[in-house]
Amino acid sequence: MRKEYIHKDVLEPFIAMYEAAEKDGVRLGIISAFRSFDTQKWLWNQRYYNSSNPISVASSVLKYLAMPGTSRHHWGTEVDLMSTKLYYYETDDGKYSYQWLIDNAADFGFYQVYNAGRKTGYNEEKWHWSYMPIAKEFLLQYEEKITYEDIVGFNGCETAQELKIIEDYVLGIDSLLLE
Ligand SMILES: [Zn+2]
Repeated sequence: MRKEYIHKDVLEPFIAMYEAAEKDGVRLGIISAFRSFDTQKWLWNQRYYNSSNPISVASSVLKYLAMPGTSRHHWGTEVDLMSTKLYYYETDDGKYSYQWLIDNAADFGFYQVYNAGRKTGYNEEKWHWSYMPIAKEFLLQYEEKITYEDIVGFNGCETAQELKIIEDYVLGIDSLLLE
């Protein structure tokens, strides 16, 4: 069985949410939690390919996958739950489970950061939930400390600045959560 890692202070709230969901017939299985730079780099380099138009290739990978060094999964505060397949959320089970999260996740500190209706950044991700009590602080630190000089070491990294990865993607979350 694959092992997933999570920030130690996220474990207890996650288990509380998991158990509450289970009582309502929802199974919040974790697809992916903490991901290191190297794991993200492997995922990124799988999808990125050299072309005469690196901006267009990077933009298309960025619909659902963050550049290494810019993923919230590096923080240990994020969980991808249930399924990362869009069609799952069209099924009765998917609709019911997603609605459960919308109604209850905030009680446990979890929020859908990549919600519908944002102007920039990743496509909507109904599976990606963030433990905001800690992630909020990490985002502030990210803004303070990370520059484009830090976003290097993978294929196509030279596109990061032009694609405004920090402004449009790292900060491209539900605007209510930026306040
Ligand atoms: Zn995710």
